[in-house]
Amino acid sequence: MIGGFVFVHLDNGEEERCKPRGKIREDMYPGDRVVIEDGMVEELLPRENLLMRPKVANVEQVLLVQSLKDPKINFKLLDRFLILIESLEYNPLIVINKIDLVDELDVNIEKAVAPYKNAGYQVYLTSVEDEIGLDKIHKAVSEGITVLAGPSGVGKTALLNKLIPGANLKVGDISKKLKRGTHTTREVRLLKTNNDSGWIADTPGFSTLELDGIEAEDLKFYFPEFNQYLNKCKFNNCNHIHEPGCLIKEKVEEGELSSSRYESYKTYFEKLKERGRQYD
Ligand code: ZN
Repeated sequence: MIGGFVFVHLDNGEEERCKPRGKIREDMYPGDRVVIEDGMVEELLPRENLLMRPKVANVEQVLLVQSLKDPKINFKLLDRFLILIESLEYNPLIVINKIDLVDELDVNIEKAVAPYKNAGYQVYLTSVEDEIGLDKIHKAVSEGITVLAGPSGVGKTALLNKLIPGANLKVGDISKKLKRGTHTTREVRLLKTNNDSGWIADTPGFSTLELDGIEAEDLKFYFPEFNQYLNKCKFNNCNHIHEPGCLIKEKVEEGELSSSRYESYKTYFEKLKERGRQYD
């Protein structure tokens, strides 16, 4: 919103500067779909979701960026991001950047990402620097609203600049903290990808990785590779930790499920459980 105006992207590809009616103005965010008439935003259409930090409505997918080296990939952290993204029901796309920094794309990398592919995630191995693997990401972000996420230093800004030619963001630009609770002049911008139906937020999401809204008992639903064994443990409410007759544990032992992913699951389950106890 600039000076009380918003820029509404029309179905025909044009953009119109509009003024939101009083009440709508307070509750309107980038990504919202609206009805306009004579330069006024008259109606706010129901939204699919609202990402809180930064505030972006109707987010469809998250490009979850990590780098192989500098900084070294941290799978526990990757899993934490995935839990958050799954709990919000966004579609995560995993980008592993800086593959140019390893001598050879050896089997270890394939091995390391295999659990994620097996869980059904799209995994992109890229080098933004050397322009490797970007075509597929281009395609992935050509529909809907995408938000980038990931630790700092992994190349989010550089990736954004490649995906949005002319965006010209400087490193550090997009990681500026948004002020909370106040309207800032610099709100999130949605940048158009190379066609009319794809948008990317210029500010990364998930600046806080608190698992606040998540119950320990729900965590299992955020590990999609567990889904195929749903309700097949001895106990229906099995949390796959110490219960007898647990099929998930069995599959981990057999190597069907990744033990590192399962370790992450256990770690975060215990954390959430511990937090729950504090309020008992
Ligand atoms: Zn189980």
